[in-house]
Amino acid sequence: MASIFSNLEPALLWKHFDELRKIPRCSGEETAVGDYVVSVAKKLNLDFKRDDVGNIVVQKSGSTGHENASVVILQGHLDMVCEKDSGVAHDFVKDPIQIERDGDWFKAKGTTLGADNGIGVAAALAVMEEDALVHGPLELLFTVDEERGLTGASQIQPDFLTGRTFLNLDSEEEGAFFIGCSGGGDTLITLPLQKRDTPEGTGLSIAITGLRGGHSGIDIDQGRANAIKLVTRMLWKVGKNHPFFLIQFHGGNKRNAIAREARAEVIVPKAAMSAFQQELRNAFEDIIFEFKAVEKDMDLKIEELSGRVSEVCDTDSQAMFLNLLLGLPHGVLAMSQEIPDLVETSNNLATVAWSEQNAKVGLSSRSSIGSALQATKDMLRALAEMAGADIDQPEGYPGWTPNLDSPILHVM
Ligand SMILES: [Zn+2]
Repeated sequence: MASIFSNLEPALLWKHFDELRKIPRCSGEETAVGDYVVSVAKKLNLDFKRDDVGNIVVQKSGSTGHENASVVILQGHLDMVCEKDSGVAHDFVKDPIQIERDGDWFKAKGTTLGADNGIGVAAALAVMEEDALVHGPLELLFTVDEERGLTGASQIQPDFLTGRTFLNLDSEEEGAFFIGCSGGGDTLITLPLQKRDTPEGTGLSIAITGLRGGHSGIDIDQGRANAIKLVTRMLWKVGKNHPFFLIQFHGGNKRNAIAREARAEVIVPKAAMSAFQQELRNAFEDIIFEFKAVEKDMDLKIEELSGRVSEVCDTDSQAMFLNLLLGLPHGVLAMSQEIPDLVETSNNLATVAWSEQNAKVGLSSRSSIGSALQATKDMLRALAEMAGADIDQPEGYPGWTPNLDSPILHVM
């Protein structure tokens, strides 16, 4: 039976893409697809290496007259995201991806297509097999387990490759080259809280909702408000004139999302209640004005709490917590000095979670420059240390600093 890719050019690319669609290859299950790559290399009598985690590199010499050109690495990842629509009876462990043509597009029937990165892998396999191409020495690199956190690529040993020019075949925009990427790293701050008995007063819930939020990498340059910052700002400001007692504070829910909502609970002495609420609303009016171009739907809800509260933060813990949150940065920290409108370094004040003994604050930092990422994480550490908090900064992933003078960029 003819494949739906018959008669398409380049024929080798579509041939390999058709083979790849038949091989189940969810992340972590790349043995079969790796075996396929090896079988193609063996058939062509090309040297290859396969490392302990399953990454494969196939060497192809330069065409006649180009044997001594510098080595170029072409890289794609073997795994794919395995998702299907509800009700689709597809078994990602054994079933081939079913593909249909819709005009100029190929689409999978009810599942992910695996073009990420099947088409990049197919391109590298086509280059491997095609004799008519003129090229220097090539290292065709196939990595495993990209989608779950780049674990294949991150375990490549330094002697696995000899080339120093690397083209990644996994991108989403036709006609665009990516020449850099931010690195990232998380920080988790745990601030111990001392508690005291609840003083006289009325409990209030203060919540900001309706912010636009968004992705901490993609949307950080939009100037969107951070709900954690806003609630902190209001409490800090109002607290200068009207003492209150913090019961708890929650905000945000994901490390890589800009916080859309935050909520604090406080006890306010009865006599100060109306002035306290009025000042909160005044502070919120200022915030609405400040963000009027970006945040159209933000809402402040102040509600009296029912029920009895057994304890609140003591004065020092409360001051430390609010000072820390107010001091921690959120948003763009530096723009690229070379590329217009490109964010170079940013920080997301992502989450605040509360327990009886402590407050946990989660942040994620990004930069395309390794030293700037480290400096940002150091800044967070310094603030946390000043507050007497514990800090956890797991190893993140490195950035890729754009090199506008790179020879390959000029060639491309
Ligand atoms: Zn990909």
